[in-house]
Amino acid sequence: MPVLGLDANATEPLRPEARDAVLRALDQPGNPSSVHAEGRAARRLLEEARAAVATAFGAKPQDIVFTAGGTEANALAVRGLAPGRRVLLGATEHPAVLRAAPATAETIPVLPDGTADLAALEALLGAGGPALVCLMAANNETGVLHPVAEAAALCRRHGALLHVDAVQAAGRVPLALAGADSIALSGHKMGGPKGAGALLLRPGIDLAPLIAGGGQERGRRGGTEPLPAIAGMAAAALAARPEAAIRLAALRDAIEVGVAAAAPEARFPGRAAPRLPNTTSILLPGVAAETQVIALDLAGVRVSAGAACSSGKVAASHVLAAMGLGAEAGAAIRVSLPWNAAEDAPERFVAAWSAMRDRLSRRAA
Ligand code: PLP
Repeated sequence: MPVLGLDANATEPLRPEARDAVLRALDQPGNPSSVHAEGRAARRLLEEARAAVATAFGAKPQDIVFTAGGTEANALAVRGLAPGRRVLLGATEHPAVLRAAPATAETIPVLPDGTADLAALEALLGAGGPALVCLMAANNETGVLHPVAEAAALCRRHGALLHVDAVQAAGRVPLALAGADSIALSGHKMGGPKGAGALLLRPGIDLAPLIAGGGQERGRRGGTEPLPAIAGMAAAALAARPEAAIRLAALRDAIEVGVAAAAPEARFPGRAAPRLPNTTSILLPGVAAETQVIALDLAGVRVSAGAACSSGKVAASHVLAAMGLGAEAGAAIRVSLPWNAAEDAPERFVAAWSAMRDRLSRRAA
């Protein structure tokens, strides 16, 4: 039986359009900063990629800063825009944002459904000087979509800047981000290769670089641009069709219906909120997420722990804790369908999950 990959929020499978673009760019020998013919050809490719990303996300090419990924794009925005401002962070932000922020940053709580508490944001904005607000478009663990447009209106009213981490939302749902001052994207989360990301800036916004180097990217990000990864990201951004959301949401819903029918005790944190179409968080009381992930892996099903996981270590989920879950947060796994998920994915997942649950719940009892 082929492997069932349901961990797209970690990284999406490479799209064929992105693969073709990477291979074409690998054949381009020049450095985009060189003035000779090869350099100019590489520059043309880079600017075509910039125009494609601009088209895909409704930005202006000159306001796009290419980076090495989503983590760097977020760090560039937070570090570059924070000086002289209070920093307000959504409670469920990714570590890429949380760890770029100063220790004095304040937290915007979430409601039990996982969405940002706008009343709390308004109170925080009214309580001090100029602020930088960081609110992600979609959460990576639960798929919960935050009310970014409403937050943008509040920020505008209070003279605050808004940075949006759209790494998980881009290419999956239409981005209604007109009010944001900066937007972080990651190539490999859209079906591009690893190694490229982008920060989209509102026209007129400028920021200090994290890496000054040779002054590339209009002085906002030094370093020779990773052309193959950027070309692949741009091709992936154009190939991603938010219309695919309907198909993925139907598959995701079928997973939830199947799991709920097999195990009445199962819960789905974030299900009450608007969510990414491809994501569900499944909580099986009494069974550690890590144990579930390993059991499913042995059955050929790839998912991840709902908790943040790096270098193979699972830590307590600050996302589920912010939503009011206690120790049971450690029993949630994340299932995230890739853009090319097969129609039989729900049936196969539910069969493997039910067998795992019957075995592990019996042991836990
Ligand atoms: N932001 C969110 C919401 C993410 O889920 C991730 C990766 O998981 C990142 C940022 C970091 O992106 P990258 O892997 O491109 O550095």
